Amino acid sequence: EIDYFFPKQQTLAIIKPDSMDEHREEILGEIRAGGFSISRLKETVLSRDTAEEFYREHRDKPFFSQLVDFMCSGPCMLLVLTKENAVEEWRSMMGPTDPGLAQVTAPGSLRARFALDILHNSLHGSSNQEHAKEKIHFLFGDIITSDRDLTSNGELD
Ligand code: ADP
Ligand code: MG
Repeated sequence: EIDYFFPKQQTLAIIKPDSMDEHREEILGEIRAGGFSISRLKETVLSRDTAEEFYREHRDKPFFSQLVDFMCSGPCMLLVLTKENAVEEWRSMMGPTDPGLAQVTAPGSLRARFALDILHNSLHGSSNQEHAKEKIHFLFGDIITSDRDLTSNGELD
């Protein structure tokens, strides 16, 4: 059975405030079409403390306070995506951090299509499995034990 070589993996995705009004439904459609199961989903406005802790790896970067302001500026959608090789596949679907670069190197990617600029770049995706586990636990507060697909039981409709 080929699944043996490609065990299911989970990653954290966030639809950032800049894409929530105009692009959320299309992004959710692309996630489904890409074969991901949406195992958890939560719409929320992040508090400053939560955004600062979530992005603490970037606290010494010059853009840190702008990033935190932006992430708290409106509702976000937090998603746990499950698929074989989910971490890498979701990064690849998003495209590079900078949409200007994305438009050149990955024109079909979601950031190439929807992001405004390098800060307001539409989406988050964990960069590795360790980060994925840590940030899912941080934002959802419990261990994910199910890969139940919320897209197939009407919760998104
Ligand atoms: P990614 O989200 O692709 O993993 P990083 O982890 O490097 O990118 O950065 C985290 C987030 O910080 C980015 O998604 C983006 O919103 C913001 N960011 C990154 N680099 C810059 C920059 N040079 N100027 C402004 N914002 C930035
Ligand atoms: Mg990152």
